[in-house]
Amino acid sequence: MRISEKFSQRSATTESAADSPFMNGSGTDNSLKGACGMEFKDTRQVTVREPYDVVVVGGGIAGVAAAVSAARNGANTLLLEKQVNLGGLATVGLISWYEPLCDGEGNQMIYGIGEELIRLSVRYGYEDLPEKWGGQGGNKHKNGRFSAHYSPTVFALALDEYVRESGAKLLLDVLAVWPVMDGKVCLGVMTETVSGREFFPAGCIVDATGDASIASRAGIPTEEGESYLTYIAHGFDRNALANHDETRDMQDLRKWIGVGSDLYGNGHPADVRKFHGITSDEENRYLAEGKSRLLDRIRSWDKSSFDLTMIPTMPQYRKIRRIVGRVTLTGDEEGRNCPESVGRFGDFRTFGRRFELPYGTLYHPDWPNILTAGRVISAGGDGWELVRVIPVCAVSGEAAGAAAALASLRKESLDSLPVSAVQERLMTAGVRLHIND
Ligand SMILES: Cc1cc2nc3c(=O)[nH]c(=O)nc-3n(C[C@H](O)[C@H](O)[C@H](O)COP(=O)(O)OP(=O)(O)OC[C@H]3O[C@@H](n4cnc5c(N)ncnc54)[C@H](O)[C@@H]3O)c2cc1C
Repeated sequence: MRISEKFSQRSATTESAADSPFMNGSGTDNSLKGACGMEFKDTRQVTVREPYDVVVVGGGIAGVAAAVSAARNGANTLLLEKQVNLGGLATVGLISWYEPLCDGEGNQMIYGIGEELIRLSVRYGYEDLPEKWGGQGGNKHKNGRFSAHYSPTVFALALDEYVRESGAKLLLDVLAVWPVMDGKVCLGVMTETVSGREFFPAGCIVDATGDASIASRAGIPTEEGESYLTYIAHGFDRNALANHDETRDMQDLRKWIGVGSDLYGNGHPADVRKFHGITSDEENRYLAEGKSRLLDRIRSWDKSSFDLTMIPTMPQYRKIRRIVGRVTLTGDEEGRNCPESVGRFGDFRTFGRRFELPYGTLYHPDWPNILTAGRVISAGGDGWELVRVIPVCAVSGEAAGAAAALASLRKESLDSLPVSAVQERLMTAGVRLHIND
């Protein structure tokens, strides 16, 4: 499949012929009739921006890893993020615990960008890694595992520099609204920015949105997840200040203060339906429940004795939507060798459980140039639990970025790209693919 040929035929389009959601060139009349009977016609001009080999949508941990990996593999790469800071749930979502890179039995599972990012997470902010993993001041929180509880704001600042140093271009405050399709080939992404509507042509797209909205709008089959109510802010109180006086540990000044449930649903309010975050109404139900319950919780507190220093700027859903790809990781693959592995990882919950990540979890074979990364890859059941945590999002991101660069530069579809070529790139970058490597 010669993606670039199709792409160059279309890239001269400068007006809203590309405006019809999901399909390119199907006409300029984008009328829609709402329930109120009003008719809207969208005739805005589209600015066609410079083309990229790879466009990564979403600058969470997976998107950052994908963009850096694609750029390092020689692709002219663009990372688009709708917020003004990188990191997604791991920074602005206030989930500031980097789950372990080791298997709990002393073996490092994750290398490459997953390791670079954990080191970056503590490079400028508080917290250190355990000495066994190269830290100096120790890490008081866990049983010596290769994990970190970092400052999300300091980490977010460092991520911008990390991406730019890779050579990838970073654009913040850009909402990708839909993929422009020619059949199943994605020609690029339509966006809304402060400049208006802009189209970014691309040879290959990586959907790292956390909700698979680009893949889903391209028509790739998906499955919805279900989330409990969890609404966590950061803050401190007088006890924390007193502890800090004694310990001098900055983490005392950034405590999780929240409402709702833990990982297993304990604490989910009985009178609240679980959440499916795909609609605006559902997302707003989540936000309203979370915010009002947190306000209820703090209402009775002595207002001179605490502060909430940050509230999350994105919904803290665990699983929103993921693709159904060529291969689906189910969680039953523990300990198994996977010939098409593009990375390995441990089970963050249980010591000694090790997995390999199949290349086929990153894409659907009928869509030749759309990859996914992070919590939206093809993993179901317990497999989804395993892959959605921060370090494993970095693993799938790095793999997706390398595959996107190769596919785009070689003008090959993802399914015809030899997996050995992707694996070779990843191994050169220091990634370990198999449990016994
Ligand atoms: C309550 C909770 C607790 C958790 N606890 C832990 C933990 O302790 N340790 C751990 O390792 N993991 C934990 N996780 C999981 C982990 O934080 C996330 O699954 C992981 O960070 C997801 O990374 P991601 O890059 O795939 O997605 P996200 O972090 O969701 O990033 C997606 C990014 O894409 C952007 N985006 C979305 N749509 C668009 C668009 N259309 N255009 C442009 N940009 C877009 C978003 O703004 C966001 O920045 C937890 C998750 C939750 C919800």
